Amino acid sequence: MSSQPRIAIVGAGLGGAAAAALMAQAGLNVRVYEQAPSFSRQGAGIHVGPNVMKILRQIGIEDALNAQGSHPDYWYSRHWETGDILAQIPLGDYAVKTYGASYLTVHRGDFHALMIDALPDGMVVFDKHLKQVEDLGHVVRLSFSDGTVEEADLVIGADGVNSCIRDTLLGAEPPKYAGYLAHRAVFPTPVDSGALPFDACVKWWSEDRHMMTYFVTGKQDEIYYVTGVPVEQWDLNDRWLPSSREEMREAFSGWHSTVQALIDNTVEVTKWSLLERDPLPLWSRGRLVLLGDACHPMKPHMAQGAAMAIEDAAMLTRCFKEVGANHHTLAFALYEANRAERASKVQRISHDNTWLRTNEDPSWCFGYDVFNVPLVEPKKAQEPVAA
Ligand SMILES: Cc1cc2nc3c(=O)[nH]c(=O)nc-3n(C[C@H](O)[C@H](O)[C@H](O)COP(=O)(O)OP(=O)(O)OC[C@H]3O[C@@H](n4cnc5c(N)ncnc54)[C@H](O)[C@@H]3O)c2cc1C
Repeated sequence: MSSQPRIAIVGAGLGGAAAAALMAQAGLNVRVYEQAPSFSRQGAGIHVGPNVMKILRQIGIEDALNAQGSHPDYWYSRHWETGDILAQIPLGDYAVKTYGASYLTVHRGDFHALMIDALPDGMVVFDKHLKQVEDLGHVVRLSFSDGTVEEADLVIGADGVNSCIRDTLLGAEPPKYAGYLAHRAVFPTPVDSGALPFDACVKWWSEDRHMMTYFVTGKQDEIYYVTGVPVEQWDLNDRWLPSSREEMREAFSGWHSTVQALIDNTVEVTKWSLLERDPLPLWSRGRLVLLGDACHPMKPHMAQGAAMAIEDAAMLTRCFKEVGANHHTLAFALYEANRAERASKVQRISHDNTWLRTNEDPSWCFGYDVFNVPLVEPKKAQEPVAA
């Protein structure tokens, strides 16, 4: 390997884009291959917590995102029928003071566009669907659907829940359908909000389903909802399907008038399968390493899936800087040792769907600072036991 390894990142989602930005800043030689011909502003919102904002500060887009997003003073949890407050978690100025950065909600497409724009021109190669990856020992060969072949010294699989790199490391296995789907809709904030004003960030809970709603712009003129609704069967060939106001009315029949106001004013709504995997037995082998949903896809019920992908990207960059990107075996072991426990904990709580349903202290999650958390040593490889 030359003194500067060529790093190929597969996938320019939020995890891959963060890795590219941070690694380029660290002076590493990075190229990103993305299957999509371009990105569009899909109808979805996203929470961005202080744990992520500290990384965006390093990338240089914290101020722009702060200007774009909505800054809720509280996360409310409310009873599905009465609207009674079940939990009220302080965010706003409290988050800035206590966790070191703001907590905001924003349009996912706007956030992603800022991330992609932060990358040096030409770093992302679009329309490159990875078909096969082969670790040849001294180099990795990447074969794309358009018939082209590229080489790299290290490959980062940031290619999402159906990761080709994960399949190469662990064998092809589809993710598990979690038995829930999520309706997603973004539309102009309705004038009439029913019996309660719209909270800037609220999750409505019943025993078996929920609806999370928040604004996706600083002006609060666009609102978003995302649900979790149990549905036994889903054809895994469809990542999402169109839904309708009628379907929403049926799923949320009898819910509070403020929920009904949102359903009545929905313009377009889609429904997405929720997919997950058990924690993986390994995150890397040889010259291949995973991050984000490729490694630990989860139900979105902590609103921390992309956050974990971005934290992974920052920790992997830190590990490259710590031991040198040429020492990739050590860097990958250090990375896994410092990410697996936290990512698995977030996966577990997301699966259980208990996060902030009642008043609890979220500081272990929001207060995390990937750049300053003390590093733990990788576990030593087990000595072979003599026969
Ligand atoms: C309903 C819902 C709501 C959510 N809400 C939140 C939230 O509020 N906050 C939060 O932090 N997270 C949220 N998440 C989770 C979040 O969306 C994911 O965890 C996050 O997108 C993972 O990022 P990633 O970069 O790892 O993967 P992805 O975003 O899936 O990106 C993978 C990229 O790789 C590309 N790719 C895939 N295969 C190939 C290939 N073979 N060759 C080339 N390119 C390829 C894809 O086109 C894509 O661009 C939510 C998820 C869902 C389903």
